[in-house]
Amino acid sequence: MRDGGRCVIPTEGCPGTFDFSLHHLDRWAFCVHHPDPRSAGGSVSDPSNMYPAHRLCNEKWGNRPGIAEPVEPLEPNHSVEWPS
Ligand SMILES: [Zn+2]
Repeated sequence: MRDGGRCVIPTEGCPGTFDFSLHHLDRWAFCVHHPDPRSAGGSVSDPSNMYPAHRLCNEKWGNRPGIAEPVEPLEPNHSVEWPS
């Protein structure tokens, strides 16, 4: 898997980058942040509305729109495969 980049909404203790060997329920596991929440009419499948974030950071950020760090959106072909 390619480098997931840096967390766009760092919270306290955020390591910045991602460790893809973590369990997907780990607080620092990779997850996708949607700066334009679906509740605000944003598409959750639009690549320009998908940014890398940590589970915990995303949780703390909540449904606020936008991002904290200026970064590029994920590549259109980006996909995350969760362990089943
Ligand atoms: Zn983070």
